[in-house]
Amino acid sequence: MDSTSGIKTPYYLYDLDLLRKTLDRARQASAQHGYHIHYAIKANHNPIITGIINDYGFGIDCVSGNEVMEALHRGFPAEEIVYAGVGKSDDEIRQALENDIFCFNVESVEELQVIEEIASEMNRPARVAVRVNPGVEAHTHKYITTGLDENKFGIHPSQLQVALDLCSQSQWLHFMGLHFHIGSQITSLQPYIELCNRVNEIWEEFAISSLGATILNMGGGLGVNYDDPEGNPVPDFGSFFNAIAENLKVPDHIQVHFELGRSLVAQCGKLIAKVLYTKKGVDKEFAITDAGMTELMRPALYQAKHQIENLSNTGEIHTYDVVGPVCESSDVFGKAVQLPITRRGDLLAIKSCGAYAESMMLRYNMRARARSYFLDSGEFAKYDLSEKISRKLV
Ligand SMILES: *Cc1c(COP(=O)(O)O)cnc(C)c1O
Repeated sequence: MDSTSGIKTPYYLYDLDLLRKTLDRARQASAQHGYHIHYAIKANHNPIITGIINDYGFGIDCVSGNEVMEALHRGFPAEEIVYAGVGKSDDEIRQALENDIFCFNVESVEELQVIEEIASEMNRPARVAVRVNPGVEAHTHKYITTGLDENKFGIHPSQLQVALDLCSQSQWLHFMGLHFHIGSQITSLQPYIELCNRVNEIWEEFAISSLGATILNMGGGLGVNYDDPEGNPVPDFGSFFNAIAENLKVPDHIQVHFELGRSLVAQCGKLIAKVLYTKKGVDKEFAITDAGMTELMRPALYQAKHQIENLSNTGEIHTYDVVGPVCESSDVFGKAVQLPITRRGDLLAIKSCGAYAESMMLRYNMRARARSYFLDSGEFAKYDLSEKISRKLV
């Protein structure tokens, strides 16, 4: 890749062809069942990425007021925007109401009361879906499971009736339906089958259809293969949506929505880093890179593992702890990683960095912002990120 020489490391490199292929498959598989996808923009808010996602007609799932405003600014229609989050501020609620977003995913009875108050002050009814905590074990890392009983997210079924009553009694709350999101990086369909069963029970027990519900939002969480990112880079959206369709028993007129983040973007991105030093320890050898937890926080935050490739060298395999330069012991990309003998100046590719990498970038240690570059139709392309519409700079 000659065109990349001279680019300052570390940087993110996105394969837009793989992104388009992934979006295409997801769209096809969901359309077969009439499902609608909102992209969870927190996974990656790079404007080139969201521009392409917009071209494919996906909606947006937001978790902050700034995400809502940015999605609008980037041309996503208000009626395609849903907004979740346990701590929506009054200003964020007001702003979302002013812009007439499609739906608030409400996470507590207390929040519902505040939305009602603000909606009445503004004389503008709020469309709401109630996020229910279904008590389904997602079998994923404990920091990314969200659907178990005592959790800051969502409303426990024992409090659901109170929330539903509030909706029916208020002229300012327009009840849209129920919302669920049980966690992230879920690699088996079993938790989703259990979720469907719980949704069926809850839908029936609380007579949700009789309350005028029109939507069911099943959230996101579909996982990707971090161990073999190139083997099967596009997640099996077909099996995922089929499993949901086979197990969900809500009435046909209910529009089913999903909020996919990671599964749409994770595999199209890599983090490219340069080896600054290979340092001999007592029993180990360290490869110290110029990228750190500031560019990819997942290993430090949830012990995530990413495949690493040496782009500059092939040859005898050695074992390295691949670490970043940041002053934290948890700034480690991988322990005992097998790499071809690695030297100062080598480029490493850290795989599966399209989701929750650039969007989680930190300025800790006063680190510089890493740039992003793109492969488009197999060619290296630079885009001017200050432009809303993607534009080749050449
Ligand atoms: C983060 C999040 C998602 C997306 O999760 P992924 O695991 O990236 O698919 C969907 N819905 C809500 C409410 C979220 O917070």
